[in-house]
Amino acid sequence: MDVIVLGGGLMGTASAYFLARRGAQVTLIERNRIGSGATVASFGNIRRTGRHLSQLPLAQRSLRLWGEVEKMLGRDLEFRATGHIRLIFDEGGLADMRAYAEAARPWGLELEELGPREIRARFPGLGPEAIAASLSPHDGSGNPRLIAPAFAEAARRLGAAIVEDARVEQIQRTGSG
Ligand SMILES: Cc1cc2nc3c(=O)[nH]c(=O)nc-3n(C[C@H](O)[C@H](O)[C@H](O)COP(=O)(O)OP(=O)(O)OC[C@H]3O[C@@H](n4cnc5c(N)ncnc54)[C@H](O)[C@@H]3O)c2cc1C
Repeated sequence: MDVIVLGGGLMGTASAYFLARRGAQVTLIERNRIGSGATVASFGNIRRTGRHLSQLPLAQRSLRLWGEVEKMLGRDLEFRATGHIRLIFDEGGLADMRAYAEAARPWGLELEELGPREIRARFPGLGPEAIAASLSPHDGSGNPRLIAPAFAEAARRLGAAIVEDARVEQIQRTGSG
């Protein structure tokens, strides 16, 4: 065994999968069931807009992976690029929104600015208070209930050992690390 991964949420199962794909021998240990922690409570948003600029390269890479996830893991994880909208309610917010759109463009994030009439036409369920909005058309959501089990299953197919119902009580350093 090369690597032990503790915790079978999105982070642990994805780490196990990508390590196994690179040829590492991985054992993942989860105290409950795979995907039963914070991952399952998530709203499943896959969002680049509004992120700190330093996070955007990682967010872009993540979005690309979500676009390929069905091919990569062999099942539909309900990723849908439905778009994300941020509503603006005052002039200060509008200035911030425009400054962010300008700053994010060099990082590959293209945001559309919508005025009140376009907001009402495209999202008729919204109330009248928003004076503007920024739309990130390629952001979306995935199903947070499916993602960790799918990564774990794919890791298992690559030879990783997935151990559930086993709480790690202690971690000790050995002579070899
Ligand atoms: C309500 C809510 C909404 C969210 N919405 C979004 C969103 O829209 N978009 C987004 O990107 N993020 C969102 N997040 C954040 C996201 O869900 C988490 O950041 C992410 O899922 C964390 O993954 P994780 O693998 O680190 O943690 P977890 O999914 O919590 O996995 C950690 C695992 O470790 C196990 N574990 C812990 N201790 C031990 C031990 N000693 N031995 C063995 N196993 C152990 C736990 O049982 C657990 O299964 C949201 C979070 C919440 C709570």
